[in-house]
Amino acid sequence: MARELPPLAQAVESYLASRPRAARWLERMAGRRYRLATFPDRPHPVVVIAHRGRYPARIEQLARAVEQDWAETPPPCRDAYEEILKQAPGLIVVQLRRKNVCGCLGHRHVLVKEIPFSEPHDAFGDAAVGEMDIAFDRVESWLAQPIMDTALDTQFIAGSRLKEFHEQQLRFRLLSILLHETHHMVAPQATEDVVRGRSLTFYREALANYVEIARATLSFTIDRSFSRLGKE
Ligand SMILES: [Zn+2]
Ligand SMILES: [Zn+2]
Repeated sequence: MARELPPLAQAVESYLASRPRAARWLERMAGRRYRLATFPDRPHPVVVIAHRGRYPARIEQLARAVEQDWAETPPPCRDAYEEILKQAPGLIVVQLRRKNVCGCLGHRHVLVKEIPFSEPHDAFGDAAVGEMDIAFDRVESWLAQPIMDTALDTQFIAGSRLKEFHEQQLRFRLLSILLHETHHMVAPQATEDVVRGRSLTFYREALANYVEIARATLSFTIDRSFSRLGKE
């Protein structure tokens, strides 16, 4: 799936690769790695996933949410974030962690702390840099829409379809948090209610659309006896 990276992403890739060996070595020692992800339909923001390399599958879930799932959400979902993404910093560093001490799903950072991005650099052009963190464990156990999440579960038979559904659900959560924190960056005055309302609507509609398509394309049985209590 080689997709030509947008110019900003290419510039950042070569910047990361061209830094002095000593700097890269120190970073590796500190366990810092970077995975770039870009939205398929826009050159920026470029998402830089900063991670420790310990959970490659998690990094890929977040990257896939940006690179693929975004494009598969219904147009109204994407339209709701059109202006926000247009005004967003060109580079968004996401520190992907396991958990946050405070228990939050994520935060936007006032200052960029990730070293290679904390100072302006030619490679960034005129792109601003923003930073946030996302706590993966917390996102995994988060019931974004408790009633809906549980009700949908019952429509997939336990097994591979259910697993696929849960992974999709997780990626939509990650995406909705990324969009939520980006909204905060762009509109620092917006109230939590407004920001949250929009990201939950995004999540709900993206998920409902996925289920509708799954229902139309697969003759999966609605197993009414399936109990959520019985699953992993
Ligand atoms: Zn917090
Ligand atoms: Zn918020």
